[in-house]
Amino acid sequence: MKWDYHVHLEQGPYRTEWLRKFLAAAREAGIDEIGFSEHAYRFRQTESFWPKSWGLKAEEDADNYVSFICTLKKEGYPVKLGVEIDFAPGSETLIDDFISTYPWDYVIGAVHFIDDWGFDRPDQAHLWLEQNILETYRRYLALFREAAQTKLFDIMAHPDVIKVFGYRPPTSLRPEYESCAETLLEAGLSFEINTAGLRKPVREIYPGPEFIKPLAEANIPAIISSDAHRPEDVGADFPLAYQYAREHGLRQLVRFNNRRRQPMPLD
Ligand SMILES: [Zn+2]
Ligand SMILES: [Zn+2]
Repeated sequence: MKWDYHVHLEQGPYRTEWLRKFLAAAREAGIDEIGFSEHAYRFRQTESFWPKSWGLKAEEDADNYVSFICTLKKEGYPVKLGVEIDFAPGSETLIDDFISTYPWDYVIGAVHFIDDWGFDRPDQAHLWLEQNILETYRRYLALFREAAQTKLFDIMAHPDVIKVFGYRPPTSLRPEYESCAETLLEAGLSFEINTAGLRKPVREIYPGPEFIKPLAEANIPAIISSDAHRPEDVGADFPLAYQYAREHGLRQLVRFNNRRRQPMPLD
């Protein structure tokens, strides 16, 4: 049994024909279940959550998205209802209220911004040239931990997405990665092994070897995801990701249903 819980429908409409393309691609890739995880910032209901300076566009309706997926679930399609939520310090209560409005199977937390900088956005990549890279990594990892500590989320997304454009810190960040693992353990969260990094300039899975080690040592449950934004990327590089997880001593994967975590052995 394989499942991919980080998939975005955003490049098409909330229509069955579009979603069926993802299911067909999943079947081809040997994936039995898809969880959709639209970005919460796309929904009008969240418009006030994030700084205007982030330039996010809230043009969709969360009610439409949720009822679309829930209807398909009722009809027996192998789909799950998820959402990917940007962490913004100070918006915890708003995010909490939004989460409790809908019957999510799981909620993914993510850090894509440091202050007003969308560090993983191609149109803002030039700003990397003005940064102290070590400091930027430290600030990102501090936000990652802060997000996990809120316990608003079930899964932390792409743990070292900060490396997306290939800028690497000059020294090891192992102590910081260990602190992240401790935080996930204390908060009872899972983390993603996300293959999208292989399709980005960095060409490396998230999290990289130095980060996955402390996570595996702390026995944090993982979920393997593609972060697909188009049907052909569903389940992308899953065989490689499963092998990577095993090689690093990971023993447990998880599925979710109605925000309850179901452990699945990785053998
Ligand atoms: Zn993301
Ligand atoms: Zn995503």
